[in-house]
Amino acid sequence: MWSFVICSFLITNQCSMNESSVYRKIRDYTDQVKIINTHEHQHWPEDYGDYNFSFYQLIAASYLASDLSSAGADGYDLDQIDSLNPGELWDKYGNALNYTRNTSYYSQFVKGFKKLYGFNDLYFTRENIAELSKSIEENYKNYRQWFDKVFQKAGYELMFLDQYWNPFNTELDGRYFALVFHINPLVTASGQRPEKGAEPEPFYKEAVSEGYDINSLDDYLAFCDNLFKKNIANRAVCLKNSQAYSRTLYYEDVPYEVARNLFDKPSSRLTPAETKKIEDYIFHWIIQKAIEYDLPIQIHTGYLAGNGNVLDNGQPIKLNNLFLKYPEAKFVLFHGGFPWTDEYAALGKMFPNVYLDIVWLPQISREEAVNALDVMFDCVPYNKFFWGGDCGLIEESVGSLEYAKDVVSEVLVKRIKRGLLTEAVALEIVDRIFRENAIEVFKLKERTGREF
Ligand SMILES: [Zn+2]
Repeated sequence: MWSFVICSFLITNQCSMNESSVYRKIRDYTDQVKIINTHEHQHWPEDYGDYNFSFYQLIAASYLASDLSSAGADGYDLDQIDSLNPGELWDKYGNALNYTRNTSYYSQFVKGFKKLYGFNDLYFTRENIAELSKSIEENYKNYRQWFDKVFQKAGYELMFLDQYWNPFNTELDGRYFALVFHINPLVTASGQRPEKGAEPEPFYKEAVSEGYDINSLDDYLAFCDNLFKKNIANRAVCLKNSQAYSRTLYYEDVPYEVARNLFDKPSSRLTPAETKKIEDYIFHWIIQKAIEYDLPIQIHTGYLAGNGNVLDNGQPIKLNNLFLKYPEAKFVLFHGGFPWTDEYAALGKMFPNVYLDIVWLPQISREEAVNALDVMFDCVPYNKFFWGGDCGLIEESVGSLEYAKDVVSEVLVKRIKRGLLTEAVALEIVDRIFRENAIEVFKLKERTGREF
C-alpha cells in the first residue's frame, strides 16, 4: 500500500517536473521571438497633457484606472492625480487599489514593473510605490530614450500604432511604428455635416485643409479616398474600426441612392435611424476600398474599456453579414470578442477571411484567455492568430506582453500534456502568433519596405 502511494507520488511529481520543464522551454522560447505587436496606442507622455509622470499618472493612463473606479474610487484621472502628493494619493486611492489586487488588469500592470524596474512584490503598497515612483520620474525625464531602451529590452521589432486621438496624423517614427489607418471619423462624420455657424467636426476641417469642398456624398467619398491614398503613401499596414464604443457593429447594406439622398439632408434633421443608414453605407464603401487597396481591417469586438457603455454593441456575430458579402476582404477581429469568446472562435473557424487577434484578452481576464485560447486552438488553424499590446505607455505594454507569453505558453503546454501537440509545433505556433502571421497577412515586407 505505502509503496504504491510513494510510487504514485514519484510518478506525479516526475510528471509535474517534466511539465514545468516543458513550460520553461516554451516560455523561454517566447523571449527569443522578435515581436510584431499588431496593436498599440503608445503615446508620448506630452500627448496626455502637461503632467509630471510618476506611478499614479501611469495608473491613470492604464486600464487599471477603470478597475479603481469600478471599486469605488472617485475621480481617478490625470488632473486629479496631478493635484495631490504621494501620501494624499495613497490615502485617497490605497483602498481601491487594494481591492483590485485580484484583477488581471492589476497583475498585468505589476508584470511590467517586474520586468523593467526589478519590482519583486506581488502587490503595490504605500511604501513600495514611493520607491518605484522615484525611478519612474527619473526615466520620464527623457522618455524617448527610456522608450527606446524598453522597446529593445522587451524584444519588440515593430508596433502597429492606432492613433485614435490623432487620427489624421500619418507621420510616425518608422523605427518603432507602422501606421494604422483609423477609420472611425470617416464613418461618424458622414452623419455630422457642418451646420451654419457651428464648429465643424475635425474631419471637415481636415477636408478644407486638404482643399476639399464637401457638398455631396460623392465629394465626401472623394475626400475619403484621398485619406486612403495618403495613408497608403505613408505605408499604412491596415485599417482599424473601433466603432463598438459608440454604435452597433451591425452594418446594414444600404443602396447608394438612399445614402446619397440622406446625405443631402441637413444632418440636424436626420433621425438616428437615418444617420445609421448613411454610416452603414460608408463602412460598406470602406470595405470595398480596403479590398481594392488590399488592406486588412482590424475591428474591435466585445468588452469595452472604461466604466460605462453598451456592451452588446460589440458582439462579434453582428459582423456576420459582412464576412459573407466580402469574401475578398480580410477581417481581423480583436480581443477574443470577450465575453462572446466561443462565438468569436466559431467565426474564425467558419470564414477563411476572418482572423483572430487575441490582443487585450489576457489583460481583461487571464483565466478566460487561457480557456478561450484552448478552445480557439481546437477550432481555428494557427496561421490566423495575432497578438497586440493595446496600451498607452510602454510599461503597461511590456506587462501585457509578459502576460500574453505566459498565457500562450500555458495553453500550449496543456495541449502537449494531452498528447495533442508536439513541442516542435508548439514553438512554431509561438512564432506564428507573435511574429510570422503578422508579417505574412499584413504583407509587412512589401508595405513597410523593411526586412524581416
Ligand atoms: Zn485598442
